[in-house]
Amino acid sequence: MGSKVLVIGSGAREHTIAYTLLKSPTVDEVTVIPGNPGMERDGIKTSQLSVTNHAALNDYVKDNGIDWVFVGPEVPLMEGIVDDFAAAGIKAFGPNRAAAQIEGSKDFAKRLMEKYDIPTAAYRTFDELAPAEAYVREHGAPIVVKADGLAAGKGVTVAMDVESALKALEDIFVDHRFGAAGAKVVIEDFLDGQEFSLMSFVDGENFWPMPISQDHKRAYDNDEGPNTGGMGAYSPVPQIGQDVVDTAIETIVRPMCKAMVAEGVPFTGILYAGLIATADGPKVIEFNARFGDPETEVVLPRLTSDLNAGITAILEGRTPEFTWTDKGATLGVVLASDGYPVNVIKGAHVPSIPVDEDSHVYYAGVEAGSEPGSLVADSGRVLFVQVHADSIKAAQDKVYGIIDKLEIPGMFYRHDIGAKALK
Ligand code: AMP
Repeated sequence: MGSKVLVIGSGAREHTIAYTLLKSPTVDEVTVIPGNPGMERDGIKTSQLSVTNHAALNDYVKDNGIDWVFVGPEVPLMEGIVDDFAAAGIKAFGPNRAAAQIEGSKDFAKRLMEKYDIPTAAYRTFDELAPAEAYVREHGAPIVVKADGLAAGKGVTVAMDVESALKALEDIFVDHRFGAAGAKVVIEDFLDGQEFSLMSFVDGENFWPMPISQDHKRAYDNDEGPNTGGMGAYSPVPQIGQDVVDTAIETIVRPMCKAMVAEGVPFTGILYAGLIATADGPKVIEFNARFGDPETEVVLPRLTSDLNAGITAILEGRTPEFTWTDKGATLGVVLASDGYPVNVIKGAHVPSIPVDEDSHVYYAGVEAGSEPGSLVADSGRVLFVQVHADSIKAAQDKVYGIIDKLEIPGMFYRHDIGAKALK
């Protein structure tokens, strides 16, 4: 009998995790809570239980003979879902509440990096407007202003002039745009260089890095417009050399895993390092306590080993095996509702998208439409079209060959995913 796995979450990231698990020969059934109706097209089960009702989730796991749980998004991790599963004797892959702070508090992450000499931008933390303004005026621009807590990737202002930095402080401290997440603010030096994401499977001091990837955070082409959750990604990232990746592993991932153990908050799960390759080597922009979205949608398709077997090994204290293809490139583009990320206009019709064995659609913000089997957009990021091809150029041609032909009134996408790799 194969495993039954439960995945918590509802985005394209969770669709990719569930789809990868379902392809595993050792898995019989994957359920996603709450999931979305697009996932069901791949034979993934969904259930509308509330993710915040941990007691009901525990019952669901026990009643349905689920072997283990994968927690996708950051919010349930921060709410202690893994602690509550553990207390009920249920195996769950993800950090507990204490370890999830590496993402949940930028101030906590920064303090740890400072204490353990992990390369990152110099910073100061403030909990009041006046001293923060004074610091910005004294320091000058460019400078980066970040709400301390969770803000779905939207709490960061990269200010190229002092005025925009002061405006960001006002948004946080006066207009309370990020609520409690903006009770404190981290102001840090601007880092110049290409960004890349390095994610690892982690079990205490041990970790297994994945291939790197690159996200596209800004809403529009040429990195213009507001920061979003991410508009597209590709892997590998040829312009970031293996020497830079090796340095990042040795100066960032390894010491951070050790630091978490030394601080009494050992990390289990996926540790995401958001990095910038500066002239002085790779430096940390942020850590996340889970898979990146959309990076997961281009990294997991490169896994050639059995995801269920790998994670089960970690959960049982054995050494896992994770292997990856080094062939070709995986690339994908987000289709988003008009107005995202500022004023999302929901309700766009989701067309049927032709795919083959080298492409796939991972669904995010969709709900069932009025026609049987149809889908409509019900939030900002609607779906992710992923392709694999021999090169980044070929992958780009392939993905836009699919998307450019679609009729998608009410949705938009970036036309330049992967362009930095082709410069
Ligand atoms: P974060 O939510 O911390 O990942 O920040 C969102 C985006 O802001 C990042 O992906 C970067 O593009 C940018 N960013 C954050 N911190 C810095 C920094 N210190 N220097 C330059 N850009 C940054």
